[in-house]
Amino acid sequence: MMVMSTQQQSIISKIETDGETSKWRDWKWQLKHSIRNIEDFQHLTGIKFSPEEIENLEATQSKFPLSITPYYLSLIDVDNYQNDPIFKQSFLNPLELEISKDEHSDPLSEDKDSPVPGITHRYPDRVLFMVSNVCAMYCRHCTRKRKVGDKDFIPQKDQIQQGIEYIKNNPQVRDVLLSGGDPFLLPTDYLDYILTELRQIEHVEVVRIGTRIPVVLPYRVTDELVDMLKKHHPIWINTHFNHPREMTQSARQSLRKLADAGIPLGNQSVLLAGVNDCQRIIKKLVHDLVKNRVRPYYLYQCDLSEGLSHFRTPIGKGIEIIESLIGHTSGFAVPTYVIDAPGGGGKIPVMPNYIISWSTNKVIIRNYEGIITSYKEPDDYKATFCDRNCETCDLELKLAPGTEEKSVGIESLLADHNNTISLIPSENERFKRRNDG
Ligand SMILES: *Cc1c(COP(=O)(O)O)cnc(C)c1O
Repeated sequence: MMVMSTQQQSIISKIETDGETSKWRDWKWQLKHSIRNIEDFQHLTGIKFSPEEIENLEATQSKFPLSITPYYLSLIDVDNYQNDPIFKQSFLNPLELEISKDEHSDPLSEDKDSPVPGITHRYPDRVLFMVSNVCAMYCRHCTRKRKVGDKDFIPQKDQIQQGIEYIKNNPQVRDVLLSGGDPFLLPTDYLDYILTELRQIEHVEVVRIGTRIPVVLPYRVTDELVDMLKKHHPIWINTHFNHPREMTQSARQSLRKLADAGIPLGNQSVLLAGVNDCQRIIKKLVHDLVKNRVRPYYLYQCDLSEGLSHFRTPIGKGIEIIESLIGHTSGFAVPTYVIDAPGGGGKIPVMPNYIISWSTNKVIIRNYEGIITSYKEPDDYKATFCDRNCETCDLELKLAPGTEEKSVGIESLLADHNNTISLIPSENERFKRRNDG
């Protein structure tokens, strides 16, 4: 039995003059009737803007376009829309036009770290593969705002093939992260083709899909889609819930289908001022997620993308939220709070400090209650010297020599088998002055 809210019924009756409700759960119907202009938005929600407001909204829309599924629109609380998290994530805000000097169109330098179109290769063993330029909804806080709407397209097979070739030729890539746009807006057989190609590459161990479909268009999770995905295990999915209000019955059903197909589910939230910058909201959200078999994965600090300043919070807000979760609730309900480093440094985890002090044989730590305690370290710990020769090591791994990449970054400072003693910025003036050049 399909239960419709009165708001959904009102929207349907305005979109389909014949009042046909059966199409509501047809994802293609939802896309076809997505709300892409201010007039339709007003008509369907009953919200009315003044002529000045409309002028500002239109200016906003001409830079950052609008698209909302009827489903997501139906979740807006029209009587209190100014404070509504659904409204704020989906509808134009003239503040988007205020671009501060710290903001960039590509703050994460994804386009610079791109060896072939559609691939961002930032980390040693995994790549981001943008396989779709289409989204079911244009999130107002999108970090890839630069790309939204200006060219809604599905990359041609030859571009996808180029990405696949790149992955094929780089055996260190063991994890491929499909993103976009939203990969679930591809036709099922096209996504099937991409997954089949990736699965044929021996060194690709895992494929991940990043999607907001369960949040903005849950009806896209059809039996056909799920049956296709099941053929390509191990598939992992990360979705993007930001507020407990998004966890509707339809959303829960879509998550159940994916989880029942044996797909581990994660969630990536963005910390957004006026939407979820409250520890009680995030706690409710992570509880709702784990109840629906979704593991909170990341909580992102809002990126320095153009037009997002009204969404940004201080980092302290995120740390405060994490402080309210660790110890207070199940460990697996606590996401890792990360800042995606401007300029392309990748994700950097930040959290409250738990180490208070340290001596040669004791660590002083504190717990979530503020109890300060000490951990006595072993007196006779014998560190295993690692020269990466497993043959002579008592720890039973026995990896063949030379199977790993060279150690990277801080890891190389710690490693026994690496002589690096410091990491020096390439622009260091003092080192340039040095006699030995
Ligand atoms: C986020 C991201 C990944 C995946 O990072 P994980 O920490 O493994 O989830 C990979 N590549 C790029 C460019 C990314 O931004």
